[in-house]
Amino acid sequence: MKKMDILQAPFVKEMAATTSNLYRLGWDERNGGNISYLLKEEEVLPFINPEKVIREIPMIFDASALAGKYFLVTGSGKYFKNVEKAPSENIGLIRVKDNGRTLDLLWGLENGATPTSELPSHFMSHISRLQVDPENRIVMHCHASHLLAMTFTHELDERAFTRTLWQMCTECLVVFPEGISIIPWIVPGTNEIGEATAAKMKETRLVLWPHHGVYGSGKDLDETFGLIETAEKAAQVFTYVNAQGPILQTITDENLQKLADGFNVTPHEGYLDI
Ligand SMILES: [Zn+2]
Repeated sequence: MKKMDILQAPFVKEMAATTSNLYRLGWDERNGGNISYLLKEEEVLPFINPEKVIREIPMIFDASALAGKYFLVTGSGKYFKNVEKAPSENIGLIRVKDNGRTLDLLWGLENGATPTSELPSHFMSHISRLQVDPENRIVMHCHASHLLAMTFTHELDERAFTRTLWQMCTECLVVFPEGISIIPWIVPGTNEIGEATAAKMKETRLVLWPHHGVYGSGKDLDETFGLIETAEKAAQVFTYVNAQGPILQTITDENLQKLADGFNVTPHEGYLDI
């Protein structure tokens, strides 16, 4: 059966649009940021022949829990700003081999490119998220400016950090009732940071990397982008609030509880003083 042009595939178009948006927001300078998008076989089959492997790519960790799964990923060292004009050079479609240590490249990543160097963090996070939410398909990393800045000025306590974000915009508690997790500073691209991030991903869809950026996960690109965008907006408001002067009033814990009741969400246990 003749295959359709993969550049017309909804997942390629969405990825290009999302990377462009992230770039325009200033959260993915140079080659900053990376995204992995878990795809169903029926989504990719109209566009590629799954038997036609362009090349094999080795990995530094065991992803056998994801064997046979397809992912659209951003490339290592590639710039988000370039994805839209040259998708096949900057992103690629891969499948995890049964041994869990090798990837089949099925499309893209032209000229010898490889998947993001943060693939361990992405794959370990996918494994964690799928255990708690079988619908999870996206892991997204970016350098959201105000969240990043807050990791210098705010205490890195998950409860305190979450409470501050919840207080900055009324919608925050509704969008991420489970809060935001924080890992220690760790060298990026390593299995160690992947393991730390993935462990946190079992509890929260947002994981902060101090002095670096943020990880988000979700069921589609829009939702995950929106999740990061909401936390980042709260961090931006925090920045303005602190620049303006002492805080005279805020959203009280009673109000946050009313909000949770009104929107039928459960705040992270113990995060509200009620
Ligand atoms: Zn980064």
